[in-house]
Amino acid sequence: MSQSNGVAEYRPLLTIVAPAYNEQEVLPEFHRRVSATLDQLGMPAEILYVNDGSTDATLSVMRQLQADDRRVSLIDLSRNFGKEIAMTAGLDYARGEAVIVIDTDLQDPPELIPEMVRLWRAGHDVVYAQRQSRDGETWLKKATAHCFYRLIDRVARVRVPRDTGDYRLLSRRAVEAVQQLKEQHRFMKGLFAWVGFSQIALPYRRDARYAGVTKWNYWKLWNFAIEGITSFTTVPLRVATYIGLGTAAFAFSYAAVVFYRAIMHGDPVRGYPSLMIVMLFLGGVQLMTLGVIGEYVGRMFNETKGRPLYFTNQVTFGANPPAVATSRSDIVGTA
Ligand code: UDP
Ligand code: MG
Repeated sequence: MSQSNGVAEYRPLLTIVAPAYNEQEVLPEFHRRVSATLDQLGMPAEILYVNDGSTDATLSVMRQLQADDRRVSLIDLSRNFGKEIAMTAGLDYARGEAVIVIDTDLQDPPELIPEMVRLWRAGHDVVYAQRQSRDGETWLKKATAHCFYRLIDRVARVRVPRDTGDYRLLSRRAVEAVQQLKEQHRFMKGLFAWVGFSQIALPYRRDARYAGVTKWNYWKLWNFAIEGITSFTTVPLRVATYIGLGTAAFAFSYAAVVFYRAIMHGDPVRGYPSLMIVMLFLGGVQLMTLGVIGEYVGRMFNETKGRPLYFTNQVTFGANPPAVATSRSDIVGTA
């Protein structure tokens, strides 16, 4: 995405992409810790905040941070698009040779950044932080997350690393690769894994949220899981086929039995219960497989519309050299 007036041509070595939705309480502390880490690191860096249509004071907090720190750039999305798209917007505008995506709720410790950078300098294209433990989360969430990673590992043809969030460093060529994946249904962990290159895990302990509340609930997580599976594998369709074949085979053999009994023994009319059971069972299987097919048809519908992924109210690059700020309020496509 080319910007015309100088600032965009300035390339920091490192861009920190931080999407935030209603994070007013956490942002100042987040910024303090990230800048402390960046100061230590001592490389030209940019912190790119993405305001994902927050309804609280997040945007003004970001503006304040930008006023106080020349490294801060800011994307203000036109509404709440969800974290996956907010991250995508961040990647589109990130100018760094290496880009780190991080949650602003401080569940991803910024102190890992130097180690990520070290591994990037050692030649890796993707350095993903891998959780060793999840403090402050219920056992139910841990268990469901566990099952989800194992399931996607089994059925999807792409290896999504286990217990890995979105916190990771991407090299420029990995960023450019991810940018070319323009699908509407963006299961980012899957996309990051899909592009390949040299990927390496960096183990860490996941902290509890610093403040505010998680934007996730079980319904969202369930949909997220469906998203992950349907965007990366058509195995559910094949499972539907096999269920269909299985029931058909069973139905034919049972039909043979019924036919034989009727011929040989002149079976009197009986079997209302078994008839009901078979009808309900077949009806259920049919609706279920239709639903599975529907999931994929719906996704095709969304993709064929070819809409841009997001719109921005404003993009303001940090005044890091050259010392002019730019802003634009225009329409941004997926590129
Ligand atoms: N987030 C976002 N848009 C949304 C929801 C969340 O940009 O619609 C950001 C949020 O501000 C945070 C990160 O994504 O920085 C992770 O969100 P959250 O902590 O709610 O998810 P969890 O850590 O529970 O997976
Ligand atoms: Mg969180």
